[in-house]
Amino acid sequence: MDHNKLQHKIKETFDRIQERLKGPFRFMEVCGTHTVSIFRSGLKSLFPHLLEHISGPGCPVCVTHPRDIAMGMELAENPDVIFAIFGDMMRVPDSNGITLKDLRAKGANIVVCYSPLDSLKLALKNIDKEIVFWGIGFETTVPTVGATITEAKKMGIKNFSVLSHHKIIPPVLKFLVEYGEVEINGFLLPGHVSTIIGISPYEFLAKDHKIPSVIAGFDPIDIVYALDMLTSMYICNSPKILNCYERAVKPKGNKKAQRVIKEVFKVSDAYWRGIGKIEASGLEIRDTYKEFDAKKRFGLTPKDVGEPKGCRCGEVLQGKISPKDCPLFGKKCTPISPVGPCMVSTEGSCAAYYKYGV
Ligand code: SF4
Repeated sequence: MDHNKLQHKIKETFDRIQERLKGPFRFMEVCGTHTVSIFRSGLKSLFPHLLEHISGPGCPVCVTHPRDIAMGMELAENPDVIFAIFGDMMRVPDSNGITLKDLRAKGANIVVCYSPLDSLKLALKNIDKEIVFWGIGFETTVPTVGATITEAKKMGIKNFSVLSHHKIIPPVLKFLVEYGEVEINGFLLPGHVSTIIGISPYEFLAKDHKIPSVIAGFDPIDIVYALDMLTSMYICNSPKILNCYERAVKPKGNKKAQRVIKEVFKVSDAYWRGIGKIEASGLEIRDTYKEFDAKKRFGLTPKDVGEPKGCRCGEVLQGKISPKDCPLFGKKCTPISPVGPCMVSTEGSCAAYYKYGV
């Protein structure tokens, strides 16, 4: 679609949404990529005034609890370990403001990987070291980590393990609608996660909580279309889970990826930043693969640590406040010198608000 036609289409849809709404409609987007797309495309500034947008807990780096960060730091400081991570984790401050980048500057052996499989290459090259991959992320990243573990087992690699702090999305949505302090009238559901899990894990939102929800792609027009669907269902009091990203999301998700997850991981309780423990919202490595579980291999136990001083990421992630409500935003906390993870990650709300000046 050419640019003018696209603009016209967006305006037409937003006019229709504005006409349809009789009062505020607050929707939460649950994916960092949606956050970025909404800001980068300028959609946020075009939203009809009754459409309220809040970011949810969809940035994996941001939701990683300080106690899990502390566990990662402990491993990174182990002189026998090469700690393999996704790049975003490098600059996440712990509760004392120390980052993995700081530890690397002091000599810790930390390597950024683009894929968990890269850590197997590291293991083969460094047989005198323990290679630990830090498993951070949602259902989207878990299958590759699972496949890396099965591959390591097949190859007989003995010096490789995974520190699993993986999380799953539906339980945190359940938590937010049951215990959250913010009223949510609709969800823009994460496209990437949905490619793996499909539609049915979200059905409780419509069935039990009467909240319309739409799985959406990441182009601005995908988001606009999803908002049209969301507000229409809301006004008609006809909550459903709609899949507006059919080109990527199959109703039952990706069976092969689901099999890998089930083979290697089991559902466990997990800690979310700003929330604390949510039952059955994480993934631990099964006993059949226990030799690849870094927590068991290194006897790691969680430490009781808090948020970085003054940081309000926990409230941002639950939609309780906007990033700009944090007194540190843009002053003590900027992308160059982040205090909390929401300012570090490219998918973080604070970073998006700062970068796009909304
Ligand atoms: Fe945390 Fe910085 Fe965001 Fe405040 S602005 S909530 S300190 S990341």
